[in-house]
Amino acid sequence: MDEQQAREAICEVGRRLYARNLVAATDGNISVRIGEDRYVCTPSGISKGYMRTEDLVIADGCGKLVAGRGKVTSEFFTHLAAFEERPDIGAVVHAHPPFATAMTIAGLGMTDPIVPEVIMGLLAIPTTDYATPGSREGADVVRPWICDYDAVLLDCHGALTVGRDVFEAYMKLEKVEHTAQVLHTAHTLGRVRRLEPDAVKKLMDYYHGGAQPLPPYPFPWESPRR
Ligand SMILES: [Zn+2]
Repeated sequence: MDEQQAREAICEVGRRLYARNLVAATDGNISVRIGEDRYVCTPSGISKGYMRTEDLVIADGCGKLVAGRGKVTSEFFTHLAAFEERPDIGAVVHAHPPFATAMTIAGLGMTDPIVPEVIMGLLAIPTTDYATPGSREGADVVRPWICDYDAVLLDCHGALTVGRDVFEAYMKLEKVEHTAQVLHTAHTLGRVRRLEPDAVKKLMDYYHGGAQPLPPYPFPWESPRR
């Protein structure tokens, strides 16, 4: 994906985030790796629903503005942490999806093996420690989790997903929020059942070649971290 394609893809993903209520006002940020030490990313203070390709900025691997008129988003250090930990990824999406964020506020988390599709696509969705949004700590708390998981919840803040390209990262964010809505509905109905260990093992065998679940994924029946 060249720079112009990356700009167009980021604007399209921004529109989808905004249209699906995964961000409000000027929340969220998106970045795409376009080369060695070069990233296209969303600037600070812009609605993701109304971005033009020329609004986006180029940053280097230190988070410094290289080109563009805006300011590099303060949360770009969190994106950089993901890019540093994961040479296999090309894009990072961060948003404030309301149901998924509420799960962390309620202390429920999303690591329990409840929804098969999460195990198939994401293994689990761990929650990082709390960090002040936009601070360097935001990068520190993401590192231990993003190396093994493609989607993480940021405690009391939002969610961050990674992918080979920005559409893949966006789809994972959509999946996180959809799962949170399903879990919220199940909690509201009063009963949340975990999958049986045998069902989890079959999913791991079928979709992950028999790999052992990674911590904090609770198999067999260890208490999840959150
Ligand atoms: Zn945020």
